[in-house]
Amino acid sequence: MRPPILRIDPRDIDPELVKEAAHLINNRGLVAFPTETVYGLGADAMDPGAVSRIFEAKKRPLDDPLIVHVAAEKNLYELVETVPPEAKKLMERFWPGPLTLVLKKTMKVPDIVTTGLDTVAVRMPSNIIARELIKAAEVPIAAPSANLFGRPSPTTAQHVMDDLGDAVDMVIDGGRTEIGLESTVVAFTGGETVILRPGGISLEELRSVVKGIYVYTDSELAEKSPGKYPRHYSPRPRVVIVEESGRQIESTLSVVRDSIEGGYKVGIMSKQEHASSYMEFDHKILGPGDDGRTCASRLFHVLREFDTEGVDIIVAEALQERGIGLAVMDRLRKAAAPAA
Ligand code: AMP
Ligand code: MG
Repeated sequence: MRPPILRIDPRDIDPELVKEAAHLINNRGLVAFPTETVYGLGADAMDPGAVSRIFEAKKRPLDDPLIVHVAAEKNLYELVETVPPEAKKLMERFWPGPLTLVLKKTMKVPDIVTTGLDTVAVRMPSNIIARELIKAAEVPIAAPSANLFGRPSPTTAQHVMDDLGDAVDMVIDGGRTEIGLESTVVAFTGGETVILRPGGISLEELRSVVKGIYVYTDSELAEKSPGKYPRHYSPRPRVVIVEESGRQIESTLSVVRDSIEGGYKVGIMSKQEHASSYMEFDHKILGPGDDGRTCASRLFHVLREFDTEGVDIIVAEALQERGIGLAVMDRLRKAAAPAA
């Protein structure tokens, strides 16, 4: 059965609609809702039965832990035992916002949320609809992205319906998400502060608060962080990345021509400044190559558009891995990784 779609205007929130959604959360329901990063699929984080429905709906492996969303700092303390000084500083600077902190969990957090780990990932979203929903439900909300596992994350309510329609109890449509890709995940281990996943807050921004912070390599991740799958965020078409160089346009054109000759339907995802070179082909602009924010906000949208249009191969120009461009390239590389 198709779930009800509640349109909520973030500039004029109807508290009655929020109450309706909160009522579902309090009764083991699954509610998809907008955050500033991507749409989340929410359930009461303290109810293992509700949380297990998230894994079923997304077909998410049971070893991939969830992020718990809170609306106020005081709600943090029923979830975590201790907050290291670096975490405190990051919270003060970046909460509410797209930053997730992995901290020692309390006994109260159900094992299914953390997939049995002794840490829990927590974030305070800045999106006003998300915050009002958490406040009205009066419980922390566990919410991964509201897509089928492995697919590009949803940045509109329509994307949620396309992937999960029948499996959720309600979808809140609050318009397109602002950032367009997931939060940055930071952990504190052995006296170090490390980034497990680049995201909406850049490495440079984090460094302005915690100097020594660095990004875990894939092998460090494989060893220490669960839920890290090489292939992720993938549309049905194959994604081929053309790296940055002085000849990026020529290289892109050559991949495109070869693919078309091979009989494939090709779509190009390009930097704005290169678009005029691709006029004769099916192409979409991601954004200016030095504007990671714009590129991030459009990435999943463009991947899904090509998917819907039945393209076989998406030829994607790589961007600079600076600022939020690092997160854009992380997602793009995972989208391009071969199926296991
Ligand atoms: P998603 O909910 O899809 O945005 O993904 C959340 C990601 O956060 C997971 O896939 C993990 O990589 C990471 N994560 C969540 N909880 C933990 C944890 N306790 N320890 C380490 N990483 C975590
Ligand atoms: Mg996800």
